[in-house]
Amino acid sequence: MTRRKASRLGLVGTSQTIAVKMEADRLRAEGVSIIDFGPGEPDLDSPDVVKQAGIQAIRENFTHYTAAAGTPELRAALATFYGKRVGREISASSVIVGVGGKSVIFAAIMALVNPGDDVIIPAPYWVSFPEQVRLAGGSPVFAMLDPADGFTLRADLLAAAITPATRAIIINSPSNPSGGVLPPDEARKIAELVVEHDLWLISDETYESFLYDPADIFSMLSLREMLGERLVFSSAFSKSWSMTGWRVGYAIADPGIVKSILTVQSHDTTHTCSIAQRAALAALELAPDVPSETVELYRGRRERMVSGLREIPGLSCPMPRGAFYAYPEVSGLLAAKGLASSSELAKALISEVGLATVPGEAFGTPGFIRLSYACSDETIREGLERLRRFAAGE
Ligand code: PLP
Repeated sequence: MTRRKASRLGLVGTSQTIAVKMEADRLRAEGVSIIDFGPGEPDLDSPDVVKQAGIQAIRENFTHYTAAAGTPELRAALATFYGKRVGREISASSVIVGVGGKSVIFAAIMALVNPGDDVIIPAPYWVSFPEQVRLAGGSPVFAMLDPADGFTLRADLLAAAITPATRAIIINSPSNPSGGVLPPDEARKIAELVVEHDLWLISDETYESFLYDPADIFSMLSLREMLGERLVFSSAFSKSWSMTGWRVGYAIADPGIVKSILTVQSHDTTHTCSIAQRAALAALELAPDVPSETVELYRGRRERMVSGLREIPGLSCPMPRGAFYAYPEVSGLLAAKGLASSSELAKALISEVGLATVPGEAFGTPGFIRLSYACSDETIREGLERLRRFAAGE
């Protein structure tokens, strides 16, 4: 047989978070009442100024190809926005805009990882990091973080995973799924490690707006001088401005590295939607403070979700410091219900009480489940009630 599928398909599976969404949608379409703690997206709508800018862009026929790295206006606005945030000059040529954070990170990995390279990824990890590394021909190497330490990213755990085959480290703070946040002193130690071993460092800060303690506000971008070419910072409009569907993400890196990422992007998506780029520009220019309002709303939701979870026997839930996920340990509940894994628990929750969650297996840490609190108080209340009933066997 000469016709066959690509062998790289055997290296990756479909995203488990997307699988949960599909199952929840399927059951809903059948008329089943589903409370969805699965989604990795804000329930809020995009700000009005963003929507208006999108409509205006269509009216003005801003519907043609743009520069492949993003419009000069958006790149310049992002450079100014982050320059102010970290108190350093950032040039527009250090910015590349793409189709959501996911696609920009993939393009960066394709540009920087060679077949056979080891890439260290702290676990629990965002589902797409290992898969993207595998698609590039690299090997993900997992550095297990300590649940007793709130899955805090610590340099010594990364250092222990470094070997002569290591070429890159991918970190994510605030973390999806754990809500763990990188302490600034650990960030400095990680940067020292990266320089010492001359590695690439991809720092995914997609949830940067969702930090609940002002002392945690920090970006790897502030260590840019020290890291030089080695640093690729990435983020997106998706979560901070409730703009997941517009698909606008970006990376900030040395201009030479930006060119390399662009080489990949230019043969893949070319650029993200012209209209969405105008909308994103409006978010930066007209609504830069939305995230601080949003964060207050999420802080309340976080308290309600975590305090509710702590009342359910068999769950142990640390207070997440960032993002919008609770990530409780569920071994007590598994034992009480005679379930073998958190994957089985997630299946039982959706089929028995109509509660969608994502099992820890998806993030490299079985024994946990992820519950998103990016939903209304009423949804949180009802979801917790379903979980309580499930645990109590009612
Ligand atoms: N990074 C992390 C940690 C995420 O959780 C996500 C989305 O869920 C992304 C990146 C990508 O976001 P998007 O491609 O929607 O901008």
